[in-house]
Amino acid sequence: MAERKCRVKPGDIFTRLTVIKELPQEKTYQYRWLCECQCGKKKAVIETYLLKGQTKSCGCLLKDTIQKQSKIRWQNRKGKTNE
Ligand SMILES: [Zn+2]
Repeated sequence: MAERKCRVKPGDIFTRLTVIKELPQEKTYQYRWLCECQCGKKKAVIETYLLKGQTKSCGCLLKDTIQKQSKIRWQNRKGKTNE
């Protein structure tokens, strides 16, 4: 097997994802890693996506962002908040 530069290793953290272990390659020949999200969900992520920052969570980060944005929008519409 040809050597490759391993740019991701178990224990690495990419935003909300912690790398657990490398997964066997599939037909796509892309390196994939099993990661655990901060929320506890496990997700297989393609190495390139981790390095490019395209995948930062199991999907919960996006949900949180949308929720936060809609909350801000709602507060702006009301003008004042009671918080
Ligand atoms: Zn998550």
